[in-house]
Amino acid sequence: SIVERLSAPHRGPVPFSVEFYPPRDAEAESRLWRAVRIFERLSPAFVSMTYGAGGSTRDRTVRITGQLAAQTTLLPVAHLTAVNHSVAELRALVGAYADQGITNILALRGDPPGDPLGEWVAHPDGVEYAEQLVRLIGTLGDFHVGVASFPETHHRSPDIEHDTRTLVNKLRAGAEYSITQMFFDVEHYLRLRDRVAAADTEQGAKPIIPGIMPVTSLATAQRMVELSGSVIPPAVEERFARAAGNGPEEDRAAVRAEGIDFATEMAQRLIAEGAPCLHFCSLNFAKATTEVLGRLGVDVDAALHVPA
Ligand code: FAD
Repeated sequence: SIVERLSAPHRGPVPFSVEFYPPRDAEAESRLWRAVRIFERLSPAFVSMTYGAGGSTRDRTVRITGQLAAQTTLLPVAHLTAVNHSVAELRALVGAYADQGITNILALRGDPPGDPLGEWVAHPDGVEYAEQLVRLIGTLGDFHVGVASFPETHHRSPDIEHDTRTLVNKLRAGAEYSITQMFFDVEHYLRLRDRVAAADTEQGAKPIIPGIMPVTSLATAQRMVELSGSVIPPAVEERFARAAGNGPEEDRAAVRAEGIDFATEMAQRLIAEGAPCLHFCSLNFAKATTEVLGRLGVDVDAALHVPA
């Protein structure tokens, strides 16, 4: 299970994991596989594959997660959302994962397709909240389930107490760990951890794995932030804006260098604060994450010198 992996020996100062998303076409898929092969050499604790909103990307998620299980040494975690699925479909999907030997699932509610911040409407025969999905998966076999957590609180939570309760309830329902939404201020992560520990000692002992995105483009970072409901603190925004410069196009190289610096600083602070693992949103590229890992003291040279 993921929790066992987190206490197993690892290469660097802390275990790390990598998030992929289902590639859109054949070219994107070969890029994903190049990244996968590089990461494979660095022995991440696990890798995860996000679950898209539409039919074809969903099929790809299932297929590629199966290939990660069958054709690599990596431990895949399949994200699964409740969007537009009946309970019968959710059962069948979990069964399809089990058939491929995948027993680690990240149980999510998901967002309305098209407009992630729009009104949530449950499938008439589906589930309303991630907590119910955790329970459903628990009835289907011997799965290890993780859930999402939100250092800046979820955008639909009416208040911070409600947000903490939601996470604690998902953990009580059987989730073994959570992975956070990406954030740009470590204080948010530390406060979330304190809130969960104060609300429930037993659940507070479960790993809260921080999500980190090494920023390589300001435009991409801003889009991700918009979609996720997190905020870039003004001081950080200023750092990136300075790097981007005043030209008609952002100075990609300078933003990228700043992004690697910033992600490294965040990672170092998280390690010092005892984070159980660092979960990198790779956007299916290996280079930026590998650079951050190198800066953290992981011997990445062998992996970086793989022919593309
Ligand atoms: P929930 O835990 O169900 O919470 C949703 C909202 O409902 C919250 O505001 C909560 O406060 C409220 N709520 C929960 N329970 C109750 C209750 N009993 N009564 C009243 N209100 C309640 N999306 C994808 O589409 N695909 C992915 O692969 C994906 N991967 C992700 C990975 C991570 C690490 C994270 C952090 C997010 C990911 N998301 C993904 C986004 C996620 O689906 C959305 O953020 C979604 O809006 C919330 O999902 P959840 O599982 O946290 O929902």
